[in-house]
Amino acid sequence: MYITDTHTHLHFDQYAPDLQEVVQRARERGVVKILTLGTDYQSSLQSFEIAQQYDLVYAAVGIHPTDIFKSTQDDIPRLKLLAQKEPRIVAIGEVGFDLYWKEVPLDQQIPVFEQMLDTAKELNLPVVIHNRDAHREMRDFFESRQIKKIAGVMHSFSGTLDDAKFYLDRGLHISFTGVITFKNFRSQELVKAIPLDRLLLETDSPFLTPVPNRGKRNEPAFVEFVARRLAEIYDKSFLEITQTTFRNAKSLFGWDI
Ligand SMILES: [Zn+2]
Repeated sequence: MYITDTHTHLHFDQYAPDLQEVVQRARERGVVKILTLGTDYQSSLQSFEIAQQYDLVYAAVGIHPTDIFKSTQDDIPRLKLLAQKEPRIVAIGEVGFDLYWKEVPLDQQIPVFEQMLDTAKELNLPVVIHNRDAHREMRDFFESRQIKKIAGVMHSFSGTLDDAKFYLDRGLHISFTGVITFKNFRSQELVKAIPLDRLLLETDSPFLTPVPNRGKRNEPAFVEFVARRLAEIYDKSFLEITQTTFRNAKSLFGWDI
């Protein structure tokens, strides 16, 4: 079995006491690759350190829109240098727009996102994009910058089917979290409309814990419940979902196995 978790934040304090067990449990559940993402310079360094400690963990480096206030001018060039020389850094992320938390105005988020996308392009790395309550603004950005082809993923997807098509047309993958296992989740048709060859598996650990563990800390071993729910929605086998998403992640992040 080849299961992947393409979105985690293993640097969070919640994992400090038992990260080794967390990774081991994922391994025992068939998880073969985990991507852990930084949200600012310091946590990007931590993500890289974690990736060096565990053979199945890889890192992404980036500045999250809600962490811009913690960042300085030098952080992006420093992250670029690190990503350039370290093969265990396989993506730029987490980057994007967030208009849910009102701390950072959009006009401060745009230049950071733009520089991070330029970095990804120069280093030929995929991008992991966060987008909360900003689909109109994200689409305007893609259109005004004439971004027609981009390697990456819209993670924890929350837009409309029309938004999904817009991103798929530009080459992006789409991933869903444990939210699809919640009782009040109503967008099964939207999920099903995402072509299987553009789908990725993720948990967004430590957040958004899937049923039946809702309320507990999330961890990569629980990605299995997201995959099982996807199998139901697509009416495919668990094996087909995990294998297809493994293939997709493998080619996007350049993982060899
Ligand atoms: Zn995240």
